[in-house]
Amino acid sequence: MNIPFRRITSTPTAFKVDAEGVTLEGEVVFTERNLALLKAVLSGEVNLTCDICAEDFATMLNEKIELLISNGIYKGFNETYDVVEIQESLDLNEFIHSEVELIKNDYHSCESCKKQERN
Ligand SMILES: [Zn+2]
Repeated sequence: MNIPFRRITSTPTAFKVDAEGVTLEGEVVFTERNLALLKAVLSGEVNLTCDICAEDFATMLNEKIELLISNGIYKGFNETYDVVEIQESLDLNEFIHSEVELIKNDYHSCESCKKQERN
């Protein structure tokens, strides 16, 4: 699903996209100049690899995402939100892909390793 930046207005545009086994549901609203605010929840099941024992395990996501979408290069600085730069069009499938990759690249440990860590 693609949302052209020029279609993003001060009336929130709702979206719901399924990709890679997860769902991104939320809205995007124009804020100022070349900026829009995206608020969404990423939910669903992803497969992660345990960084301790290297076993794959599934986990349920329920991630709140709030960030600024910048049409073109963002030259400002924002303390509250991360900024994602786009070129005229917000590709939500690509967005899901990069969010899932970010989560996968985090440190993860499976349930049995977590138990051992606690002991
Ligand atoms: Zn493990």
